[in-house]
Amino acid sequence: MQVQAHAKLNLTLDILGRREDGYHEMQMVMQSVALSDLLTITPGTGQVRANLSYLPADGRNLAQMAAAAFCQATGQDVPVDIAIQKRIPVCAGLAGGSADAAAVLRALNQHTRAGLTPFQLAQVGAGVGSDVPYCVLGGTALAEGRGERLTPLPPLPVCQVVVCKPPFPVSTPRLFARVDLRKITRRPDTAGVVAALEAGDLAGVAHRLYNVFEDVLEPRRRAKIDEIKAQLIDCGALGASMTGSGPTVFGLFDSPQAARRAEQRLREQYREVFLTQTV
Ligand code: ATP
Repeated sequence: MQVQAHAKLNLTLDILGRREDGYHEMQMVMQSVALSDLLTITPGTGQVRANLSYLPADGRNLAQMAAAAFCQATGQDVPVDIAIQKRIPVCAGLAGGSADAAAVLRALNQHTRAGLTPFQLAQVGAGVGSDVPYCVLGGTALAEGRGERLTPLPPLPVCQVVVCKPPFPVSTPRLFARVDLRKITRRPDTAGVVAALEAGDLAGVAHRLYNVFEDVLEPRRRAKIDEIKAQLIDCGALGASMTGSGPTVFGLFDSPQAARRAEQRLREQYREVFLTQTV
């Protein structure tokens, strides 16, 4: 089977508090985009490989972890080989690994006719990673808790998205460690985004994009994120934000020409730039 694994964007990301189990209580509006990895799943012996040599090619690969979780949850033994053609930038806030895991779950559910509902499949995914349940469902959704409590939302009106990953890594655990809840002064208007989605108001969503992690970045990194956002807006984006724990920045466009202009301009400066659209 060949399956696509779609990247996700955070239209909003808020951290509401710290839980007793050490995790943070999150509130995020998530959106899938067409930018995707391609997975080829064949009967085999449980091998996994990707076109990027630095990705784990063993049980640490989230795709293989998902296959194991599926077998455990359904009591089936489905030995498969998984070949991953990576197109989603890695460690970028785009949930690429989680998307691969979710794609494996969906494919095995279909192939084995196990008949798990999307919500049951999402529950299996929760054991693999916090973003996997959302990636199983996809589309537009509110994710709460660690990300596993999902409420589907009306879809974001289809629009062009320019995605730009600046060439520096952001460590998610280190970023969480820098979070000081008392110092978060600006938060996304999550209710406003949900209301704009209900009204089918793309500009209303785009004007409210915000991610609290932007405030937690080191000033040097933050300046780079702000600069990319400013370029996207300058080229005609209705709104721009960082996704996940970064460092990827994206802009939403209602004009394909403006989106192409932004893509070209950013390509002159950055290697990982994509023109995609919401799905
Ligand atoms: P998120 O937005 O969920 O925080 P991310 O985009 O920041 O995710 P990923 O690209 O999903 O990060 O990768 C995070 C880590 O997971 C990397 O260290 C990578 O080595 C590991 N990993 C395991 N399996 C995969 C996979 N199939 N694809 C990408 N990364 C994987």
